Amino acid sequence: AQSGKGLNAQNLRIEGVKDIVAVASGKGGVGKSTTAVNLAVSLAKKCQLRVGLLDADVYGPSVPMMMKLHGKPDISKDRKMIPIENYGVRCMSMGSLVEEGAAIVWRGPMVMKALEQMTRGVNWGILDILVVDMPPGTGDAQISISQRLQLSGALIVSTPQDVALLDAKRGVKMFSQVNVPILGLLENMSYFKCPKCGEASYIFGKQGARKTAEEMGMTFLGEIPLEVGIRSSSDEGVPIVVSQPDSVISQAYGAVAENI
Ligand code: ADP
Repeated sequence: AQSGKGLNAQNLRIEGVKDIVAVASGKGGVGKSTTAVNLAVSLAKKCQLRVGLLDADVYGPSVPMMMKLHGKPDISKDRKMIPIENYGVRCMSMGSLVEEGAAIVWRGPMVMKALEQMTRGVNWGILDILVVDMPPGTGDAQISISQRLQLSGALIVSTPQDVALLDAKRGVKMFSQVNVPILGLLENMSYFKCPKCGEASYIFGKQGARKTAEEMGMTFLGEIPLEVGIRSSSDEGVPIVVSQPDSVISQAYGAVAENI
């Protein structure tokens, strides 16, 4: 990724933010937030960009835990929220604004209002790229977010399973309907490598996302295995690209950051 490379460089919707890139998935639990977090940190550390991370998954915000964010954002003199920074990434999440574990039961318009606050009501400073962890799915909320934020592009995350890929395809169609370019498809939980014998098991099927990307004429961004370290790093609030920066997995995330 290079600064200002994206399509909306002139057509800014958030002051000071050059490009806005969504990390999306057709369904929940496929590793969208994990990808958004590791990608954002890689863009900051490896590509040396000024990076923001917006957790737009307002119903299930996981960025505060995954990025080890504490407390509530401070308010600047111009009455905007100041993002909470960690690992070189400026973060904003509904999880930092409500009590931990609180159930968020808003309807659509309230969600859009909250997102408005979390984008334009924030003093992001100058950003080369704002990574948006989208809510899972391909409904109205996702369409409004894509349109209002004028996304430069979207990265789709999927497991190799047919059901997940079917939803991923819906995601691709949704973004093309609102003219958001697809940056590529990243396969998560591609295989599990036995720590004892080293053999790879393709738990959710083999190379499903690669084939889907080829069929749909999308860039295939790579495979991230199912690995204990990814889950434990996320749970501890230290993304794997920080805790194990030289691992094969961190290199794979770095390559995604460089390729989008
Ligand atoms: P989503 O945002 O799509 O709902 P998450 O990123 O929150 O998914 O991931 C769901 C769970 O799976 C989290 O506990 C996360 O740590 C774990 N996880 C995601 N990707 C992997 C992976 N490649 N290997 C192991 N655990 C993973």
